[in-house]
Amino acid sequence: MKLEDFPEPIQSRLLPRPEGEMRYRCLGCKGETGIDRLLYTCPECGSVLMLYDRTFDRLLKIDGKEWRKIFDYRRMLNHQALKGIFRYYEFIAPVIPLERIVYLGEGQTPLVEANGRLKDLVGLDFYFKSEGLNPSASFKDRGMACALSFINDFVRKEKIDKILAVCASTGDTSASAALYSSYLGDFISSAVLLPQGKVTSQQLAQPLGSGAKVLEIPGVFDDCMKVVETLAETYQVALLNSKNSWRILGQESLSFEIAQDFDYQVGDKVVALPIGNAGNITAVMSGFLKFLKAGVITSLPKIVGVQSEQADPVYRYYLEEKDPKRSFVPVAVKPSVAQAAMIGNPVSMPRVIETVREYNRSAGEKKVFVVQVKEQEIMDAMIIANRNGNVACTQGGEAMAGLKRAVEKGFTRPGDIGVLDSTAHMLKFLTFQEMYFQNGFAPEFKVKPREDLKNAPLLVKPSTLDQFPGAGKPLRGDAMKRFIDETAVEIAEILGLQKR
Ligand SMILES: *Cc1c(COP(=O)(O)O)cnc(C)c1O
Ligand SMILES: [Zn+2]
Repeated sequence: MKLEDFPEPIQSRLLPRPEGEMRYRCLGCKGETGIDRLLYTCPECGSVLMLYDRTFDRLLKIDGKEWRKIFDYRRMLNHQALKGIFRYYEFIAPVIPLERIVYLGEGQTPLVEANGRLKDLVGLDFYFKSEGLNPSASFKDRGMACALSFINDFVRKEKIDKILAVCASTGDTSASAALYSSYLGDFISSAVLLPQGKVTSQQLAQPLGSGAKVLEIPGVFDDCMKVVETLAETYQVALLNSKNSWRILGQESLSFEIAQDFDYQVGDKVVALPIGNAGNITAVMSGFLKFLKAGVITSLPKIVGVQSEQADPVYRYYLEEKDPKRSFVPVAVKPSVAQAAMIGNPVSMPRVIETVREYNRSAGEKKVFVVQVKEQEIMDAMIIANRNGNVACTQGGEAMAGLKRAVEKGFTRPGDIGVLDSTAHMLKFLTFQEMYFQNGFAPEFKVKPREDLKNAPLLVKPSTLDQFPGAGKPLRGDAMKRFIDETAVEIAEILGLQKR
């Protein structure tokens, strides 16, 4: 719809102008810094940063009902910059001019109701938020769209003509970083560091296809991360890891969308998501908190973070019920099918600790839970989700297994409705589906496929035939007729078909 066709009073609100005042705030020393520099850690104490809008309270002048209307009308507005995550511009990064926003189709992903069989299995009504339908096929595009939009504006303001973007990745960050960087190829080039052999071939293909420099390093993600941090401290590069707090802002859009998807009724929702570096869970909580503050929503949903037993530092941290007694200990990860979350020392842990406190405080009760699931449960859940009309990756399976665990543990109430963050597309994690179907897991994964869930193609080639069609060598006449008839008979036998 064209701007002039919207009702008069809303027109002036639909195209926002930059007016926020964003600042980096250090979670260690609480110091603040302006955004006129590319910063990833505190220049004073080295801790992680969060970005906040010092003038956020100006948003409170518009009441919640009005905000809801603005977002609902924006849904109908055809404006490139506002089609994705920046529908919620004022709440994300209201300092980036609309003409600098990079939109590659991210965000506004489908919310798909789970079918009856899945609901029975999990023990709760729930929906999939299909993040695999983002342009690089994972939710990482939300954060990358924000980070690259900021850089797009930054380099022009600072008159920088060439910049190298780098990241370490368990696969999906690099796919996303390479994709967005390639769009801005005039002045951005990208290099990604991957743990050798620890990303799927599909994930490796993505940055290669986008033209990024792909560097493989021995070790696991946590090792790559240390190398990248040293690079960012020592050389002129733009870091696109989740240390980059612009990404967290972009990822907050997931919670804004979930709110809008449910007409802003989220008090009875339970959002389940896998935890790796913990950027996503931080962003989702932080987004809901902003919407609550502005009255866009009136109560907070429960949050269920899920970790595999093979990589569970956040779960272990919250095992201690008493906050003052908790202490964070990184773990050495073991192989996990939830490879994108196979992280022993999450970059965003300080963010999680602070945000969970604020979340529970604002909710007036404990609303954040972390559960642990087994590798077997993750794999079974992924395969089952996809046998019921979804396109979940292993981490989506992890979220589903985790939602089930939360129900079993009594963290949910009857009538609650689950929302699964199905973080990436199943096609990115084909390797694990293959291992499942072929019983090919190395022993350390501890996964045995369920016979009833295995699947494999069957070659139909009747032994009664001696001639078969081939490319450029079609069969003709009688030979063709025999081939069709006998193949059909064999298929009918396999499928147990009855004659008409
Ligand atoms: C990155 C990623 C995760 C983990 O998210 P964090 O923000 O690192 O906690 C989960 N699933 C997929 C598919 C991912 O790419
Ligand atoms: Zn500091």
